[in-house]
Amino acid sequence: MSRFFSEKYRHLTPYTPGEQPKNRRFVKLNTNESPYSPSPLAREYAAKAAESLQLYCDPDCTALTEKLAALYGIEKENILFTNGSDEALNFAFMAFCDDAHPAVFPDITYGFYPVFAQINNLPYREIPLRDDFTVDVDDYCGVNKTVFIANPNAPTGIALPLSEIERIVISNPDNIVVVDEAYVDFGAESAVSLITKYDNLIVTQTFSKSRSLAGGRLGMALACAEVIRDLNTVKYSTNPYNVNSVTQAAGLGALTDDEYFRHNCAEIMENRAYLTDELSHLGFITTDSSTTFVFAKHPDLDGGQLYLDLKERGVLIRHFTLDRIRDYNRITVGTREQLDILLKHIKDILGGTP
Ligand code: PMP
Repeated sequence: MSRFFSEKYRHLTPYTPGEQPKNRRFVKLNTNESPYSPSPLAREYAAKAAESLQLYCDPDCTALTEKLAALYGIEKENILFTNGSDEALNFAFMAFCDDAHPAVFPDITYGFYPVFAQINNLPYREIPLRDDFTVDVDDYCGVNKTVFIANPNAPTGIALPLSEIERIVISNPDNIVVVDEAYVDFGAESAVSLITKYDNLIVTQTFSKSRSLAGGRLGMALACAEVIRDLNTVKYSTNPYNVNSVTQAAGLGALTDDEYFRHNCAEIMENRAYLTDELSHLGFITTDSSTTFVFAKHPDLDGGQLYLDLKERGVLIRHFTLDRIRDYNRITVGTREQLDILLKHIKDILGGTP
């Protein structure tokens, strides 16, 4: 730390992204990227947009917004595009939390929430998940704070039904409820249908998983027009050109090729069922995942050691050191071939084969 670093950031613990190794070819099942390339249309549109990179991008993401509005059956005023959904979440912390409206979220959830709270100097409280890692919805009903809830949750993968999300929203009429739907396209129920019914609901989604654009950084916030206007005030006060033109074009291509998106989601869900079954045959305990990953532990294996042993063998998975989940690993659902390599190595580790 330099002697110039502001006092207000000295105690900040930044978010730790998953490893992105460059020096060796790993079977990479650690950061929940899609195993599939972006749609050919997304790539074609992006290449075309690159020809005009001398110009600033459209700060309103007009074409993208019109396309999404038509696809989702909502108004343009209900949409804000962001630099990954991380930015939408950060904007929500900035816009809707303060001393009178502290943030609340589960103790085991997306690790960026406490970081967003800390960098914006906002009070927050973590509410423990139940022992089986499910959310006790009653903990959030009438909590009178700004609620952040990932649905499905990460890294547990467990989803709440829409009726339970609605119960949280209804019971906190004077606070914003942010539903982070980064993984919603893989089997959970979206709350987008509720954004015109409740003025205190924000849904965030991403193109990083189901539309294979993690590197493009494209996400969105969906909410009533007034709330989107507030988020825009924050956006236009920080970075008006937050979504670059190549990414806007790639996003438009991805939305246009909806068939490709549906096909890939279906394949990932099929592979998730395969991985879950195979792991349970090997003695693993898994949660009920509605996401692109499986959260698993084995009674005879130390979670951290399994991560290291697999890394040694060229397979990367994600291990978290948080106490309650240190026995677990989060394994991204890859292609069938990637999963078979992973499973072979796990069998070897269990069988003591070096
Ligand atoms: N929410 C959750 C629960 C996530 O796991 C992620 C991905 N790391 C994000 C939000 C942010 O994704 P992105 O910024 O790539 O849209």
